[in-house]
Amino acid sequence: MKYKSTRDFRVSVTSAEAIVKGLSEDGGLFLPESIPSVDIAPLVNLSYRERAKAVFSYFLTDFTADEIADAVDKAYTKESFGTEQIAPLRKLDESRYVLELWHGPTCAFKDMALQILPHLLTTAAKKTGMDKEIVILVATSGDTGKAALDGFADVAGTKIIVFYPQNGVSRIQKLQMCTQRGENVYVAAVDGNFDDAQSGVKAIFTDKAYGMRLSEAQYVLSSANSINWGRLLPQIVYYISAYCDMVRTGEIRCGEAVNVCVPTGNFGNILAAYYAKRMSLPIKKLICASNRNKVLTDFFASGTYDKNRDFYTTVSPSMDILISSNLERLLYLLTDGMSGEVAEYMKSLSKNGKYTVSKALHERIKAEFAGGYNDDEECKKTISETAAKYGYIIDTHTAVAMGVYTSYASAAQDDTKTIIASTANPFKFNEAVLSALCGDAATQGKDEFEMIDALSEKFSLDVPQPLRELKTLPVRFDDTFEKGAMRSAVSGFLGI
Ligand SMILES: *Cc1c(COP(=O)(O)O)cnc(C)c1O
Repeated sequence: MKYKSTRDFRVSVTSAEAIVKGLSEDGGLFLPESIPSVDIAPLVNLSYRERAKAVFSYFLTDFTADEIADAVDKAYTKESFGTEQIAPLRKLDESRYVLELWHGPTCAFKDMALQILPHLLTTAAKKTGMDKEIVILVATSGDTGKAALDGFADVAGTKIIVFYPQNGVSRIQKLQMCTQRGENVYVAAVDGNFDDAQSGVKAIFTDKAYGMRLSEAQYVLSSANSINWGRLLPQIVYYISAYCDMVRTGEIRCGEAVNVCVPTGNFGNILAAYYAKRMSLPIKKLICASNRNKVLTDFFASGTYDKNRDFYTTVSPSMDILISSNLERLLYLLTDGMSGEVAEYMKSLSKNGKYTVSKALHERIKAEFAGGYNDDEECKKTISETAAKYGYIIDTHTAVAMGVYTSYASAAQDDTKTIIASTANPFKFNEAVLSALCGDAATQGKDEFEMIDALSEKFSLDVPQPLRELKTLPVRFDDTFEKGAMRSAVSGFLGI
């Protein structure tokens, strides 16, 4: 199976090339030229890993079965995820099934893709004849950096360098990164904000002379960006796996439709669910939940995507996004591969910050998706109500999804069983969760570790090991660089 670009239908590359390149030269995103149908019944009694191998083999047709098995077996271990189920499904009532995607080493759903991407990437590089060492460069506002570090740590043939804004991450996030183990990792602060770190990384990527220097030293730069097909594909697996779990436990019969509700930022996670649907997984409605940055809710309602608006920081920071990059793939899929139409929309987005889709496309989107949003107050209310009703503590991102689902279900009179994606462990967003459950006073004067302890004691919850051990792990990295000195930081680490 070949891969094409959302902006130019003439592009045709293998899956290995799509993963190594990340982004097409025309600026478009890679996607498979056709979508295979998955046969659910044979997967029902298999483990998560075996289901993953089956789904991967549909799309990575230029990989051997051994290469796929090797990547999957290395990534999805009980050791890394704390459970053989990898992504367990928890039933709250007859319609709510929470898909816990945060059992990985960094306690958030990015692990589901970033634990396997390094293995896919190194295998893909070999297949395309690339013999240089891959250097992953990341600018992070917190969560992605740690998940990438953990995924690439000690993966042969790779090095990873993460830059974070000096004062732009929480104490826990900083500790998570600066205590990272691994001989091939490097972490540094940038004296600036996230945009400074991001621009610095972009400048290094586009510096041709520096690229040559790296190449002579047998290095090549790459990114672990969320628009890489190698990050999207692993996310399709858990929707299929959750459905299989529901069939296996008798919650549904094979073929019965379910809904999926996803707390959304960059549109990667929910797009993976849409792919699962196109592979003929019986999904009725895809419910796209946003926080106060509700650019997607407005888009579904009006057909106009408009990022010209105020940006809000919320208690669900991983969804504070105004450009949902992966939406481009959806537009392509729903226009039946009219790459010209998508290219026009994207041109308008970069020129005017907005675009309006055709009436036909808007109708198709509305048939598949429902959109809704919750602000911080509603989110916190959902956390406390969910705790009271089900004795189950959810994080702020999951709460946005839960709240939007509840409104959707009553407005649409839809009692279809629904898989609600839970994207972070509640301990990771301890301050907002604790204040939602115990009031603002409970957080006052406490640092993050004290809030974690308070949550744990009050609700008799085990603090996840990766967060618990943070207090005692040695800090390995404490360098800070001026914005203009990021390149020399890279050179220093690589010894060139
Ligand atoms: C990244 C992230 C999201 C948003 O996922 P997208 O794929 O970008 O839509 C939601 N919740 C958490 C906790 C995240 O880390």
